Amino acid sequence: MKITYCDALIIGGGLAGLRASIACKQKGLNTIVLSLVPVRRSHSAAAQGGMQASLANAKKSEGDNEDLHFLDTVKGSDWGCDQQVARMFVTTAPKAIRELASWGVPWTRIKKGDRPAVVNGEHVTITERDDRHGYILSRDFGGTKKWRTCFTADATGHTMLYAVANEALHHKVDIQDRKDMLAFIHHDNKCYGAVVRDLITGEISAYVSKGTLLATGGYGRVYKHTTNAVICDGAGAASALETGVAKLGNMEAVQFHPTALVPSGILMTEGCRGDGGVLRDKFGRRFMPAYEPEKKELASRDVVSRRILEHIQKGYGAKSPYGDHVWLDIAILGRNHVEKNLRDVRDIAMTFAGIDPADSEEQTKDNMQGMPANEPEYGQAMAKQKGWIPIKPMQHYSMGGVRTNPKGETHLKGLFCAGEAACWDLHGFNRLGGNSVSEAVVAGMIIGDYFASHCLEAQIEINTQKVEAFIKESQDYMHFLLHNEGKEDVYEIKERMKEIMDEKVGVFREGKRLEKALKELQELYARSKNICVKNKVLHNNPELEDAYRTKKMLKLALCITQGALLRTESRGAHTRIDYPKRDDEKWLNRTLASWPSAEQDMPTIEYEELDVMEMEISPDFRGYGKKGNFIPHPKKEERDAEILKTILELEKLGKDRVEVQHALMPFELQEKYKARNMRLEDEEVRARGEHLYSFNVHDLLDKYNANLKGEHHE
Ligand SMILES: Cc1cc2nc3c(=O)[nH]c(=O)nc-3n(C[C@H](O)[C@H](O)[C@H](O)COP(=O)(O)OP(=O)(O)OC[C@H]3O[C@@H](n4cnc5c(N)ncnc54)[C@H](O)[C@@H]3O)c2cc1C
Repeated sequence: MKITYCDALIIGGGLAGLRASIACKQKGLNTIVLSLVPVRRSHSAAAQGGMQASLANAKKSEGDNEDLHFLDTVKGSDWGCDQQVARMFVTTAPKAIRELASWGVPWTRIKKGDRPAVVNGEHVTITERDDRHGYILSRDFGGTKKWRTCFTADATGHTMLYAVANEALHHKVDIQDRKDMLAFIHHDNKCYGAVVRDLITGEISAYVSKGTLLATGGYGRVYKHTTNAVICDGAGAASALETGVAKLGNMEAVQFHPTALVPSGILMTEGCRGDGGVLRDKFGRRFMPAYEPEKKELASRDVVSRRILEHIQKGYGAKSPYGDHVWLDIAILGRNHVEKNLRDVRDIAMTFAGIDPADSEEQTKDNMQGMPANEPEYGQAMAKQKGWIPIKPMQHYSMGGVRTNPKGETHLKGLFCAGEAACWDLHGFNRLGGNSVSEAVVAGMIIGDYFASHCLEAQIEINTQKVEAFIKESQDYMHFLLHNEGKEDVYEIKERMKEIMDEKVGVFREGKRLEKALKELQELYARSKNICVKNKVLHNNPELEDAYRTKKMLKLALCITQGALLRTESRGAHTRIDYPKRDDEKWLNRTLASWPSAEQDMPTIEYEELDVMEMEISPDFRGYGKKGNFIPHPKKEERDAEILKTILELEKLGKDRVEVQHALMPFELQEKYKARNMRLEDEEVRARGEHLYSFNVHDLLDKYNANLKGEHHE
């Protein structure tokens, strides 16, 4: 039996896994990265939009800082995130951008002078300062107040992943692809590596390590319609669940992206709307401002997705053989902008939909002559003229994942997790656009470094026999999948699971439908025990892979659905039409799913409370979506008064925003990452008095005074 020993084992070669491998090498560890595919083809490469970090270089990002990034992140999460983790993240993100720049990521740069832009459907001119020429530019993305999403045209993930992969190779990380992690090796609640199947030869071997880090990405392929790559099936997270010790956090927190191409699901980046693109219904009307007067198309993703579906449900969607959809209009930005800044989007639309989205020419005007605007075909005809892209919401991002502490360690000691696979929990119930590639790199830095420290100290305390028993178990399992008496077909079961998830566990959820989904999924899970693979070879066998992965995916589907059924509130991307309010009184918590016994056919669910008294910002209105839509936490007022008092007292003593922040909510972070971020405008900010911690003082003061007067405030 083949056993490979190393200090640090990393499963997953996306941004998170590769960046963590560099952290391990920096501490001199013998490090192996395993991946299903060549690492540069990891899903991270698909990110087009960009990476959030508060650099404050460009005109539209003036005055930006960690506090504002933090505020956007917490509001975006609908107060479901761990605020200390959000602080760790926003403090490190600017350093991550700069590090990536030093590794050669060709960030799009500022050009001094005037440039045309489309803001809120209007053509405007933005003037960049001469002294900012050549610094990293940022775009409007993710519904944030300040423009802080850094990008490399529309191939951000691609350039980032290549740079990090090059750096990992430069550090001589041992990268091995076409390796599929099947199970974790663990004993006495400690993890000692993984059992791995070679996807080509079918050989099962063990990688034994002092520490193991999981960075296998999201679980989007549990759904039928998704923007995710086919490798994003969550099998890594399911393997953690199958240890019976590690737990999954908030699996019901699934993000649906509003602008996925119909029918393929290829993402039309949010950069389209960030750059000024608008959404139109079948009549060509821009409908978002009526629903979201303040943020319009740039409200958070969960909000835009819901609004699109509401509008379609009212009968305003354009008809298509693949169901109703709406239109994304980027032609409004002008051909030059589309061809230069949204090249990939144009390429995708032309290749997969036969549409040139830069086309604003009224080429087929004659076709529409005399056609009344309320004709069902009117929108289609308009779109043909304008090159609009057919889009609708589809699964996009997995906020849920393997639950970790702020250092990235799971409930199974020695098993760490980072990136989309994890529930670190930066995103709560909705992650902001641009915060995810950022999280992958930042978590790779922070968690990678904590993980490396763990590996330096840990010992391998498992004997060879035990390791061999783990290998044997997986070998027997592969044999069973090929040679059992069962008659079930893996593809039939997998397809039905995806349909159930789409139909009943999507954007709008409801108790009765979730119950039905759960029942059907349980039946599928029972049937999956009788899957028998028809292609009887152990090597190079896609059907065999599907067989063991589908069984894992079904466990995740059960965790998502059970979590969604039990959570009788609406928070972020989790919308219960039978419980439309966010309920901070009963549901300010995180769902934890575990699977302690292999005999179980349902996850065990428990909850982790979020402590309002430890929050830097107490739960409040998000600034978009429905107003008055939450039941306040009983301790909210007490915490708000405490926050207000602290801020006022410390500012009177001349303390700046970093010192005040620390007093409100201390958080732990490595010194090198906690160091203050310098910005070009530091002196000007000080002169303007913006170095003070002020982002929610006025708001709180208003409420405080209103309470004194006995006025009711939301
Ligand atoms: C189309 C699209 C566009 C996006 N655009 C943006 C954007 O503009 N900005 C942003 O912030 N975020 C964006 N995101 C999200 C972001 O790209 C991802 O969240 C992030 O890249 C995930 O990185 P990761 O390292 O966690 O995982 P991934 O990049 O998914 O890497 C996972 C790795 O795990 C390996 N793996 C998986 N299972 C196994 C196994 N069983 N055994 C061994 N290896 C395994 C894979 O081979 C792969 O190497 C986008 C997502 C999509 C779907």
